[in-house]
Amino acid sequence: MNIILLGPPGAGKGTQARHLVDIRGMVQLSTGDMLRAAKSSGTEMGQKVAAIMDAGKLVTDEIVIGLIEEKLTSESGAGFIFDGFPRTLAQADALAALLAKLGQSLHTVIEMRVDDDALVKRIAGRFTCGDCGEVYHDETKPTAAEGKCDVCGSNKMQRRADDNADSLRTRLMEYYKKTSPLIGYYYAKGDLRPVNGLADIIEVQKSIEAILG
Ligand code: AMP
Repeated sequence: MNIILLGPPGAGKGTQARHLVDIRGMVQLSTGDMLRAAKSSGTEMGQKVAAIMDAGKLVTDEIVIGLIEEKLTSESGAGFIFDGFPRTLAQADALAALLAKLGQSLHTVIEMRVDDDALVKRIAGRFTCGDCGEVYHDETKPTAAEGKCDVCGSNKMQRRADDNADSLRTRLMEYYKKTSPLIGYYYAKGDLRPVNGLADIIEVQKSIEAILG
């Protein structure tokens, strides 16, 4: 079963994707994580996208489609969770073509609905564990012990370079201009299932599980 988690930055796509990996053995394909990995390992592509990402703009379709194509052919599990991909209509068409080539299809597109004020608050306090990727928040989900990951005990807490007010504005603008048309696109295809991304994490998990069955 292959699914897309669709929603603006800060909607909780990564958190829900990680849960589905844990409970269902699905494979999370986050183009944001792949690009950040390329950026921190200093590959040529990583250097090319670094400034674009920090500013909150979308990188080119060609780059992200290439990343997804590579993973689709090299990874396997109980289905793929596309997290942060597709973000443009061209990416959505490319994904349909790639899946068809592999004899696969898309099961559901989960739209995570969150209002804009809530996004700004969520993103402003967000930090993650640099070792296991667990996501925390200064106010709503702090670590039990200051600076120490509850899950793996690491003290490598990180804040994303693009989680600041300026890039967030650009990321939201990019979302509304280029990504939100995908809601209509998948609705028209009959694949779209909305969930309330403002509910607490466990409630959102339950709504997604009810949809996936
Ligand atoms: P994310 O972690 O999904 O919020 O992505 C972080 C940044 O990576 C975005 O603001 C973009 O600069 C870039 N990015 C991630 N996924 C895509 C995509 N599918 N298309 C274009 N740019 C992307």
